[in-house]
Amino acid sequence: MSVLSIRDLHAKAGDTQILNGINLTVRSGEVHAVMGPNGAGKSTLSAAIMGKPGYTITQGSVTLDDVDMVSLPTWKRALAGLHLVMQYPTEIPGVGIDELLNEALAERGSNQAQLAERIGAEAARIGLDEALIHRAVNVDFSGGEKKRNETLQLAMLDPRIVVLDELDSGLDIDALRDCARRVEDLTNERKLGVLVITHYSRIFADLKPNFVHILAKGRIVASGGPELADQLERDGYDAFTA
Ligand code: ADP
Ligand code: MG
Repeated sequence: MSVLSIRDLHAKAGDTQILNGINLTVRSGEVHAVMGPNGAGKSTLSAAIMGKPGYTITQGSVTLDDVDMVSLPTWKRALAGLHLVMQYPTEIPGVGIDELLNEALAERGSNQAQLAERIGAEAARIGLDEALIHRAVNVDFSGGEKKRNETLQLAMLDPRIVVLDELDSGLDIDALRDCARRVEDLTNERKLGVLVITHYSRIFADLKPNFVHILAKGRIVASGGPELADQLERDGYDAFTA
């Protein structure tokens, strides 16, 4: 059982104060959705959790199983069990998906046995063409291939808690369904804890949130169950931000 605990988080993007006191607790096996309009600070929240350069935590804490994350560099947060699927996946020229996973799993001291077979099995499961496994990460991939690749990496690296920043942006309905279902399966099979950041409730058809939070102007302005997403769909963000 793991717990990501975010307390009174204030953060800047560049020189601008964006997050103004976020509280969230994500436990193993739970799916928490954070919904908010453009510019609300959703990507800033994911960047602050993961320690992305250019974002500064000015107050509050982020801990994973009572271990402070804020003082750790991004790679140590990853080794501790945090993983971020970015809204715009990074292209890594010259490094194949298989090479990347090989290195990342070696660094984690993971069992490397039958690695190629395991990657192949995950690729088949997520619907990623196996030929892409030997190509440079995300370079000249379609939107759907990028997010399938990111989901494959998530399944292979097996973190305790994942932050999905708009997994649903830049890919078609079929790819979204496959990726969302794979994450949902991970919550059941391996008790992955999920913070899923999104504008739209469409992804919830396959990745079922236990809790929904609405982020506006750098604060959580409402929290509830899945019914909150239905209310949002009906009334729009204005009902929560007025
Ligand atoms: P969301 O993901 O909810 O659309 P973001 O967290 O990306 O919102 O952005 C929140 C605000 O912070 C926006 O006004 C954006 O322009 C600003 N912002 C984001 N990143 C930076 C940065 N690196 N430097 C300055 N401002 C930034
Ligand atoms: Mg964003």
